[in-house]
Amino acid sequence: MKIICIGQNYLEHIKELNSAIPEEPVFFLKPDTALLLDNKPFYLPDFSNDIHHEVEIVLKINRVGKNIAEQFAHKYFEEITVGIDFTARDIQKVQKTKGLPWEKAKAFDGAAPMGKFVSKNKFQRMNNIGFHLDINGKTVQKGNTNDLLFSFDKIISFISQFITLKIGDLIYTGTPVGVGAVKIGDKLEAYLEGEKLLAFEVK
Ligand code: MG
Repeated sequence: MKIICIGQNYLEHIKELNSAIPEEPVFFLKPDTALLLDNKPFYLPDFSNDIHHEVEIVLKINRVGKNIAEQFAHKYFEEITVGIDFTARDIQKVQKTKGLPWEKAKAFDGAAPMGKFVSKNKFQRMNNIGFHLDINGKTVQKGNTNDLLFSFDKIISFISQFITLKIGDLIYTGTPVGVGAVKIGDKLEAYLEGEKLLAFEVK
């Protein structure tokens, strides 16, 4: 199983990081050791002073595919949830400046909390799904898939040109505006439309 993450996929988030608008999907990988399941606590690592939350919709791949045409990409996932793409922003800034890979800032243990999956059939259209993240009861990030630069289908098609997708692979589809640092004691709750699918504490 692999975790593939899309970066810079919501315009307002690209602006808040002063990044350029990508011409094609930007992706990177996290190892399976980054997964944090069952609402287990996230332990703040000591190598960063600026761990940011990025709430994202996560797709679970349900069949093997290579060079998937965009028009058939919807057949490659049945379930979705919300997850957090934890990012050591201080480290990422250094890596970006030096033109180095992002893994040091993105792939560490516990950097990919993931919620309970639900059927995508609960939603009428994939391009109109709201999601948000609350910290200590206050909404800090709010997004809707109608703001995606690259749709779920486009992402699946694009990635599969380079990497064979396998059953159980996970795709984090990008974060909306409002990223920020977490601290010990924070309680994070992530929702897909009105349904809370992920809740955990920072320790
Ligand atoms: Mg992200």
